[in-house]
This record gives sequence, structure tokens and C-alpha cells, in this order.
Amino acid sequence: MKTKEKTLIGFFLMLAIAACNLNNQTDESQVPDKETLMKEAWEDSVKYSYAVELQSEIMNHVQADIETEPVQAGINQDAADDPAILKIGGKIYIAGSNKRGGIHIYDLDGRQIKYYDIGLINNVDARNVIHKNDTFLILGGSNRSNNSISLLIMGVNNKYSPGEEVHSIPTDLGEIYGFCMYKSSKNGQTYAFANCKSGRVQQWLIDFDPEGKPGGTEVRKMSVKSQPEGMVADDSTGLLYLGEEWAGVHIFDAEPDGDIESEFIEQSSSANLNISYDIEGLAIYRRDTGGGYLVVSSQGNFSYAVFDLESNEYLTSFKINDGEEVDGVEETDGLDIYDGYVSEQFPEGILVVQDGFNYDGKTKKAQNFKIIDWRKIQAVIDGMME
Ligand code: CA
Ligand code: CA
Ligand code: CA
Ligand code: CA
Ligand code: CA
Repeated sequence: MKTKEKTLIGFFLMLAIAACNLNNQTDESQVPDKETLMKEAWEDSVKYSYAVELQSEIMNHVQADIETEPVQAGINQDAADDPAILKIGGKIYIAGSNKRGGIHIYDLDGRQIKYYDIGLINNVDARNVIHKNDTFLILGGSNRSNNSISLLIMGVNNKYSPGEEVHSIPTDLGEIYGFCMYKSSKNGQTYAFANCKSGRVQQWLIDFDPEGKPGGTEVRKMSVKSQPEGMVADDSTGLLYLGEEWAGVHIFDAEPDGDIESEFIEQSSSANLNISYDIEGLAIYRRDTGGGYLVVSSQGNFSYAVFDLESNEYLTSFKINDGEEVDGVEETDGLDIYDGYVSEQFPEGILVVQDGFNYDGKTKKAQNFKIIDWRKIQAVIDGMME
């Protein structure tokens, strides 16, 4: 398109957005009280309609490509929470937590291939752990049944080899909540981070007992002022990103001997009008060409905020609309990104997000997870950068 045409279109777009904003500008009297805002939309219709109204102000949109089977729960239950993408032997699997019962494992077509009925698993993540001469792919989760970290072996030496046994790290966290894993490039060790609703954060070294069973040793404590949840560690930089639900995103040193003071991403608070609390799932996309993005679920307006990993600057936001086959996504808790080749369909990776309101046409189903071609997200980011 010629630059002049682009400028004209841009001008009319700005007029349209301005007109839209006039109509959509949230009237203070319409803002639900704090108690309502603190709820999730699935349990409060006022919160739901408020979130839909705020979402209408987010212009960028994509559609999901694939959805998983619903989790094992009632259609009106908040159950699915956090996905973790596993790549074993060249194949992608999606682990999805079900905070009402365990962890589902899906293939890339969204079909359930396994269900671990192991307790109230809130958040999940996975990393390789090297023990003696073997590499184990370990899937971990925060287990609210007994405030422990559950560990499952999913692969050995890059072969899909799911174990049945649940290994466990007991914690003294009051109400265990967020969870992620980290593989240090400095010492080759793998760690788990867990937080609880009061703001305490613990770091555990994943190790093995003499019988060869995985477990953990606590190595560090940190904290934030209010309820945290979503976390992701960037193995390539050694940084831990932590979402404080009603504040924004903190960056900690992820190394066991690192500073326990954090840096706050200013534009991740609701002072950024495109962000609406809760801050939920966090995930990272590293570009082959250098740099990358932090994607954050902005749960209160059913959208996602994208930050530049180098500068920590806010870049843009997007939402996931209804497609022909797969419904749009509302009120995402957890999300995960795979930033490499997945398949011919997804050569640059995928974003996987939890959907709080899963529909099949007009029929409501139990919650599930949606898979989105990363190239769609990249197009949104690039469009914004032109
Ligand atoms: Ca939820
Ligand atoms: Ca939460
Ligand atoms: Ca939906
Ligand atoms: Ca959650
Ligand atoms: Ca659906």
C-alpha cells in the first residue's frame, strides 16, 4: 500500500477509535465495586459484562487454531488453569492443570491422552533435569491438596516416557498458588519456584534421592507485598518474572544466590489503561534473531499485554476472538509459549492459553485450552511496530 493511502487510512482509523473511545469510555458510576472486581467473571455477571466492555477497547485480535477437549469438571466450574508445553522426541504435548483434580495431557490436536488424578493442581511447568547420565523431563505443579509441589517424570533422554508415580516436595507455604521452573545456564541445575497467596516465594533445587526419585531442597526465599500467582523464568537471561495480581510484574534474579530485591515493570500496572487486574499467566517468546517478548494475561479485560524483553517497554495488547471452529478466549488464567518449530502448521511456535468460558456453538462446555499460531501474535506486534 502507498504511504499516502496508509496515512489516510491511519487517520480515519484514529477518528474511528476516538469515536469508539467516546462511546466506550467507562463511566465511573458503571465501575463495579472492588469486591465484585476481585471476583472472577465466571462467578459474577457484573464482572463479566464489565470485562467484556473493557475488552471492546482492545483493537488487535487473533483467532485460535485448535482447542483441547474440556477438562474434567462441571460446565460452571472454574477448573482449568495453567498449561505447560512439552516437546519430547520431536512431538508436542500440552499439560493442562485442573485445579479440581489433577493434570491433563493433550496431544497437539487437543485430544486427551492421559489424566493424572493427583490433587488440586493450580499451576504447572516443565524442565529437563540431569541426573547422573540421564536427562529427565520433569513436569511440576503446585498442589493445593496438601501445599506441596508435585513432580511427574514425562520423558527420559528425549523419549516420551510418562511415569505413573507422583513425587512430592512438601512445603510450608500456607496456600500454595503460583509455580514455575528454571534451568540455570550458570550451573546446569534445575529449580522450582512456588508462591502462596500471602506473597511468600520459595525457590527449590530439584534433586534426586539415593533411590533415584526426584525431590527438592529449599535454597532461597523472596516475597512481594500482595497476592502473586503467574511466574515464568527466562533460562537464557536468568531472570524470574512474577505477577502480583493487583499490582503488576516484578523481575527477580532467578539464580539461587541472586539478589532478592526485584525490579518492577512500570507499564504492567493498571496505570496502563490496556491492563486490567488480575495479572495472571506469564510466558516468554525468544526470537532467533535476538530479543523477545513477555506475554501477560490481563484477566480483567480478557486480553494479553506484550512487553519487550530487552527494554521492559509495553508494546501492545491483543484479544482472541471467535473463529469459525474455535470460540474466542475469555478470562485467561495461565498461558504458555513454545518458541521453536512445532509442526508444519506452526513453524514459529505456539501460544497456549486457558479459556474461562468454553463454548461449542451456543453450548457451554467445561473450560479448556486454546492453541494459537505464534505468527499471528508476531503479526500483531510487527503491525504495531511499523
Ligand atoms: Ca479462573
Ligand atoms: Ca489468580
Ligand atoms: Ca471462550
Ligand atoms: Ca490462576
Ligand atoms: Ca470451544
